[in-house]
Amino acid sequence: MSDIVERLRRWEKHEVVGGDCFDGANEIERLRADRDSWADQADARVKDCVEYISEIERLRGFVDEAFQVWPYGDWNGGALQDALVRHGLVALKYPPPREPCGPDCLCAESYLADEFAGGDVECYQRVR
Ligand SMILES: [Zn+2]
Repeated sequence: MSDIVERLRRWEKHEVVGGDCFDGANEIERLRADRDSWADQADARVKDCVEYISEIERLRGFVDEAFQVWPYGDWNGGALQDALVRHGLVALKYPPPREPCGPDCLCAESYLADEFAGGDVECYQRVR
């Protein structure tokens, strides 16, 4: 970067650089493209961090709720699922699947083919 700055300074003074005229316009354009690329990368990393923090907060809320019933509480599968939904860790798939999501999805073993065709399937999936 300091090399580029030095070359720009010399170019402003109309000095010849490396035996050729320094093409300041192209160099500035290249720097702008680099800046835009870095800005895009920074935006993507900020977005990743925001999503990560959101997931941590949702997990923390779920764990706090779990500790409210621990060690004597009785969380059955439905209560557990409701808590996961409340904290945004699991969500009902929408629109309802018209066929099994995959061989490992719980909906594949919980519903019959005509129930899928009728759109009456509830399939909860992990939110990331
Ligand atoms: Zn499913």
